[in-house]
Amino acid sequence: GNFLFKFLVIGNAGTGKSCLLHQFIEKRFKDESNHTIGVEFGSKIISVVNKMVKLQIWDTLPHLFQTVTCHYLPSFLLLFFCCSRETYNALTTWLSDARMLASQNIVIILCGNKKDLDADREVTFLEASRFAQENELMFLETSALTGENVEEAFVQCARKILNKIESGELDPERMGSGIQYGDAALRQLRSPRRAQPQGTQECGC
Ligand code: GDP
Ligand code: MG
Repeated sequence: GNFLFKFLVIGNAGTGKSCLLHQFIEKRFKDESNHTIGVEFGSKIISVVNKMVKLQIWDTLPHLFQTVTCHYLPSFLLLFFCCSRETYNALTTWLSDARMLASQNIVIILCGNKKDLDADREVTFLEASRFAQENELMFLETSALTGENVEEAFVQCARKILNKIESGELDPERMGSGIQYGDAALRQLRSPRRAQPQGTQECGC
């Protein structure tokens, strides 16, 4: 069958969230750094263990975090910048925010981004992988500049979600799981948008 998985890219400003999303969707580096306005969105179909999986990815600003996650529980790419301990120290807060919104079966991958700037790093691979292990996260070092491990990060998440579906840990038909079977989900996307009541923000789900 076909699947639709939803993702949020989170982490401090400047860690490379917009560039990582851009690299994944466009397969090139987004070089001029314009600030994210509202929610940036990308969507791509990948093949994982012989299944077609549609990924919908939001690159959010913190104040939109709650809004975007209102109707479903997505998976998370949690970014820090390997040359900034400040962005690494902020991970605990990001993690508790993500876990507060989600079930215990949430899939989170930690990405130490800007791996290409290795010479200036402030956080070693070993330290971050220990943190990931302690917090039951997957972990990769990525570069939105060179593209290294960018697709791999999404593929690893999708594979993990598929495993959890197969083992029954995640139920795609349960509302709010952040996972929907393709056909129904696509039909829902194609149907005309219902008018939103005044003052209600759209959440994009
Ligand atoms: P965001 O605030 O998390 O969305 O971060 P941006 O995607 O806007 O990136 C912040 C800055 O880091 C920009 O100047 C990017 O050009 C730069 N950047 C992002 N990813 C990488 C990377 O993998 N390597 C390098 N060298 N620079 C990057
Ligand atoms: Mg951004």
